[in-house]
Amino acid sequence: MEMPEIVRFAPSPTGEIHIGNARTALYNWFLALQTGGRFILRFDDTDVERSREAYAEAIAADLDWLGIVPARVERQSARLARYDAIAEDLRTRGLLYACYETPDELERKRARQRARGLPPVYDRAALALTEAERAAFEAEGRRPHWRFKLPEGARSWDDRCRGPQIVNLGTVSDPVLVRADGSYLYTLPSVVDDLDFGVTTVVRGEDHITNTGVQIALFEALGGEAPAFGHHNLLTRQDGEPLSKRDNPLSVTRLRAEGYEPMAVASLAVLVGTSHPVEPVADMANLAGKAPLSAVSKGPAMFDPADLKRLNAALLHDMPYEAAADWLDARFGLADRMFWETVRGNLALRGDAAEWFDIWQNAPRLTDASGAPILAREDAAVIAAADALLPPDPWGEETFKAWTGAIRAETGAKGKALFMPLRKALTGREQGPEMAAFILLLGRERIIHRLASAKVALGVG
Ligand code: GLU
Repeated sequence: MEMPEIVRFAPSPTGEIHIGNARTALYNWFLALQTGGRFILRFDDTDVERSREAYAEAIAADLDWLGIVPARVERQSARLARYDAIAEDLRTRGLLYACYETPDELERKRARQRARGLPPVYDRAALALTEAERAAFEAEGRRPHWRFKLPEGARSWDDRCRGPQIVNLGTVSDPVLVRADGSYLYTLPSVVDDLDFGVTTVVRGEDHITNTGVQIALFEALGGEAPAFGHHNLLTRQDGEPLSKRDNPLSVTRLRAEGYEPMAVASLAVLVGTSHPVEPVADMANLAGKAPLSAVSKGPAMFDPADLKRLNAALLHDMPYEAAADWLDARFGLADRMFWETVRGNLALRGDAAEWFDIWQNAPRLTDASGAPILAREDAAVIAAADALLPPDPWGEETFKAWTGAIRAETGAKGKALFMPLRKALTGREQGPEMAAFILLLGRERIIHRLASAKVALGVG
């Protein structure tokens, strides 16, 4: 057994999470699941202006829907005193230094560096300020922001998705850890929390690779050991653009409301952009087994929303009655194995079962949406023969074949001319489940009534 992994998923509650964030959450969840470890849900909510409790609640509900059960939920907004103490310690040690440049001044510096062909790295001018210069800025009303003094050299790690990685800290600006208003940017709280909560592996998107080099240096400065890291590729849209929090059609909350299966969303979120084919996996333990971090590709993970529909339908088509029974009971007040097994092959979303439940329970209208009759004059002979030749009970798997064989012998109709009138008369639709199964679901009594209605509609009753 591997060491139990302590992982965390750390969204900012500033919007709904999308399927790409679900990918991050699930990869973390699998590590916890497979090693008997723990999954921490950590809300990175130090940005009080943009963070919303409603988003935190929606994210928790989304994870629950995906089958992820956090062992612990934490909020950074509740830990500010801890961050203050750490920041104070870094200040005392000269590792967190006050800077007074305005955004405009910083932009001008960067423009000058670029013009000279230099990388736009912060020049540490603030480190050279005298007490008097600092006092003068303060007297002007300027409040300092605080930068972490990065050490020399490079930091490297063996990435669990990407193999050996290296970040040269000389090419990175000393990161601002504390804003002028005293609020924290993401870096310091994240590192402090990862240490305090004993996180063993950080799995997140590859957009954080440079941050990781910086964070390793901060872990060291705090006297801690950096966790392991795995940076997975990011889901992109078909045009190669990354998903953003504003990709509402792909928000997990939205997909949930639209009635997608959680395992369809999870299968796509996890398998796209890996060495595995994108296929539906019905259970979480299986999906976890298919998605080791080492299977993640190096290139982007192109996401096709049409795949979600395909996976969803495929999951439903194979979904055993036992997996659907509770939902059927809650939705229709009736869980019926034969109903489920007859209609599941025709569902794109499970909610589509409502249409077939209605067609099963209630005689269908024999007119189309515009009110035109769906049965035609030439269907009359088949319908009349069907009524006359309806087999006696008991019915079984061979009944439909025997019945239609008898109708064919009587009328000479075959193929579509034989089957379509029956389908239309019994279901009010031109497409749907296998009729051999559907007639067993309907039973003899309902069929007698429906054929009688069809005869009346055709004027042969
Ligand atoms: N709140 C950060 C984000 O959403 C967390 C990144 C991380 O996992 O460290 O990007």
